[in-house]
Amino acid sequence: MRVQHPGVLLLVISGPGGVGKDTVIERLKQLDPNLRSSVSFTTRQRREYELDDVHYTFVSIPRFQELIGRGELLENALVNGHFYGTSKTRVEKLQEAGHDVILKIEVRGANQVREKRPDGVFIFITPPSMEDLMIRRHQRGAESGDVMEQRQRLAEWEMSNAEFYDHIVINDDVDRVAGEILEVVNRERALRKAGTESR
Ligand code: 5GP
Repeated sequence: MRVQHPGVLLLVISGPGGVGKDTVIERLKQLDPNLRSSVSFTTRQRREYELDDVHYTFVSIPRFQELIGRGELLENALVNGHFYGTSKTRVEKLQEAGHDVILKIEVRGANQVREKRPDGVFIFITPPSMEDLMIRRHQRGAESGDVMEQRQRLAEWEMSNAEFYDHIVINDDVDRVAGEILEVVNRERALRKAGTESR
């Protein structure tokens, strides 16, 4: 597929729920303001602290289906019973404006992006251990036993896909891991600037 904006990066970040992706991404954006998140569509309920069109664009299932129907989604997936999808237009607009774009998406969505955007940089964030992940999710609270078990199985499956990513980073410390990802970003920028194929 044609790479439309060769000078800018598409960073795809995945990792099991509770690993701290949001915190790492916030830190990345503080450290490098050229990095921007593309706001995804979701059919799940908005959480109290979330803002529409900031954290997600919250839509109904029929509206989500309409977005798929008119080819507006770069990828989409059903996660814990809710649909999530990346807007092709939003990614395009950010890249046209010269921004490097971050997609925080799960493994199946990342696989679809890998097909369509082989120029993407695919980063998987892992916890220091599965036990650590369990503890973090317990601290988040509000999950019943069944839900916990279901999410743990999903996390284990996601972890088994880490090997398909370009870079695997361990979230042992938010500043350290953000620094490691920024090194990857800067290396990719330099390689692309030099017109060299990095992979
Ligand atoms: P949450 O509902 O907790 O914000 O996110 C649940 C999961 O959905 C996370 O693993 C997150 O990475 C994933 N997710 C968020 N936005 C998208 C998206 O646009 N596409 C896909 N495939 N997954 C997403």
